[in-house]
This record gives sequence, structure tokens and C-alpha cells, in this order.
Amino acid sequence: MTTTVSQRVFNFSAGPAVLPVPVLEQIQQDLLALPGVGSSILEIGHRTDEFGEILQSAKHGLRELLNIPENYKILFLQGGSRLQFSMVPMNLLRGQKKPADIVVTGSWGQKARDEAQREGQVNIAWDGKATNYDRLPKSDELKLSPDAAFVHITSNETIQGVQFQSDPDLGDAPLVCDASSDFLSRPISVEQYGLIYACAQKNAGPAGVTIVVIREDLLERSQDSLPGYLNYASHADQDSLYNTPPTFGIYVVGLVTQWLSDEVGGLQKMQDLNRIKAQLLYDVIDESSGFYTGHAQTQDRSLMNVTFRLPDEKTEEAFLSEAERQNMCNLKGHRSVGGIRASIYNAMPLEGVESLRDFMREFCGRHAK
Ligand code: PMP
Repeated sequence: MTTTVSQRVFNFSAGPAVLPVPVLEQIQQDLLALPGVGSSILEIGHRTDEFGEILQSAKHGLRELLNIPENYKILFLQGGSRLQFSMVPMNLLRGQKKPADIVVTGSWGQKARDEAQREGQVNIAWDGKATNYDRLPKSDELKLSPDAAFVHITSNETIQGVQFQSDPDLGDAPLVCDASSDFLSRPISVEQYGLIYACAQKNAGPAGVTIVVIREDLLERSQDSLPGYLNYASHADQDSLYNTPPTFGIYVVGLVTQWLSDEVGGLQKMQDLNRIKAQLLYDVIDESSGFYTGHAQTQDRSLMNVTFRLPDEKTEEAFLSEAERQNMCNLKGHRSVGGIRASIYNAMPLEGVESLRDFMREFCGRHAK
């Protein structure tokens, strides 16, 4: 029996996360045979002309949406963003005799710091641990090195729900950004970055493919002594065909970029909608007279991951199980923050967020003293 859209729940998972229904339908339609190919995406070689077209179309889609300048390469890699925590310092720090500046704004920034420390000299430019990562640094709090090999930030901390509201200006060193959980959710100025990376499984596609956008001159830093797969230059030289790339993931990324351009109308429209969605939930939190307490400070709130607590754990459990009975799933917060996390990525429909907002109001009405 085929499943239908009406069987879908509102899935607030932090990742792998909800995908656009038209993308899922296209995958379903093409899964026996890609039009004109006679085999599915799961069955064709990565060096065929057919896959070549799919790869180019995914790259083209990303380049158009994000306005990626010609002097940046787009790579499709495996190993998730976790591998990027290692590949970035291996390629950009090794042999530089300079420190890497890391801005630690949450759990993912901590992990990026730990991996960079395995590789070379690290300067912690800021660490928000003292207040459990509920805010981002103000520019005068940052202790940047005068000669950093690169500066690393996490544009959106998926666990704590804090997000840089715009592209930060952090000086002359190449800015490296882990954009895993807000990639393609808004326009960005790519030329302000040296390298941007994002695992696909939040906004861009399925788990298994990680996108790296790197400025060409930085490829010169990759040393020949690096293991082949871990060397950005190997992937750039061979246009992501150094080895068998995650073909299915790349195909889905291509479909997601088409959906964003053709159906959403581009990243500015996407950001406008993401703002509206997030505001619906933050308004309920702010109007609840302290029944709901947001984790992130107001000015740094994430449009992607809305994190909040209820008065006690028992009430949180009741909230989660009632929400689930109303088809709103995967709302449990990460254990390091606790409480609730509503991940409302691009593909979460407005109706999903409205239904959560209505439930939150109604639940508060019943439980607030
Ligand atoms: N960085 C951020 C901001 C993330 O949200 C995640 C995954 N949740 C990662 C890195 C790690 O990604 P992966 O599991 O693909 O290695």
C-alpha cells in the first residue's frame, strides 16, 4: 500500500529533518527510473553523463540561490559536518605556524574547537559556556588573534537555539562557518567567508552528503601529505568525483534547490517565511508570563531551533506526549539543554508551526497557575 501525504505528522526533528513534500514526491516518482535513463538514481554510475548532469544541476542550483562567486568551489563530501571539524584544521591550519581562532557559541562550536585542538594551535576567541550558551558574543568581547589562520563560527547552534542574525565581520582572517543548521534558510554574502560547510540533513537534503563551499586560494594550503580523501584539493580537482560521491544525496540537494527557486521564490522569500514561523512561537513564549522560558536571549534567538523550558520536567513530559497525540512529533530538547526544541527548518509548513502555537497556548491556559 502506498503512503499518502495525509499520513505525515508535523515533524519537528532537529535532523535528519522534514523535507519538502514536492521533493519527496519527485523522488518517489523517479525511483523506478529517472526520465530518459531507465534506471534510478540509486543504480547509475557516478561517472556517467546522466549523473554528471545531476551533479552539475545541484551545483548550479546552489550557486544561483546563494550567489556563489566563480572563485569558490562547491564540494559534495561524506563524513558529515563532524568530519569537517577535522578537515578544516587539517587543510587550513597545518603548516601555517598561526593559531586558529574559534568562537564557541554552543555544543557544536565546542566540538569544532576540540578537533581543531588535535590539529594545531587554537585561540578561543570567545566561549559562552558561563551562561550555558544562551547568547552570542558582542564584537568587543571577541579576542581575535592578529594573525589567525582562520576564524571559525557556528552560524546556528542547533542544540541551544542561538543564531548569528547576519554575516558577522570578524576581521581579515578567512572566516570559516559551520552553517549546518541554517544553510539555505536565508541569503548570505558568500564573499565574506573563506569556507562554509553544512551537512545536508536539516535544510538541504538527506543525511550522507555534506556541502563545502571554499574560496579557491585556500586550496593552496592543503598539503600533499594529507590522506587523499581528507584533502580539499583532491575533491576540487576532480569536481567531487575523487571517489564515489553520495549520489542520492546530491540528487536530492538538486531537487531541494529547485524547490527553493521555483516554488518558494528564492532565499529572501524563504527567510521572510522563516521569520514569520519563528515569531509565532517566540510570541507565545513571551506572552506566557513565564510559563514558557526561552533558552536563548531575545537578540540571538534562532529562526531554526526554538528552545524553551516549562515549569518542571513532569509538565514537559505531559507537553511532549500530548503534542505527539496531536501529530506534532520529535519536540524533545537535547539533553544538555532539556525542555523542548521545535526545529522549524525550511520545509516545516506554516500550518505545522500554527498548530504548535495553538497547542502551546491551549496547554499554557490549562497548566499555568
Ligand atoms: N554542526 C551542527 C551545527 C550540527 O547541527 C550538526 C548535526 N546536528 C553537526 C555539526 C554534526 O553533523 P553530522 O552529524 O552530519 O556530522
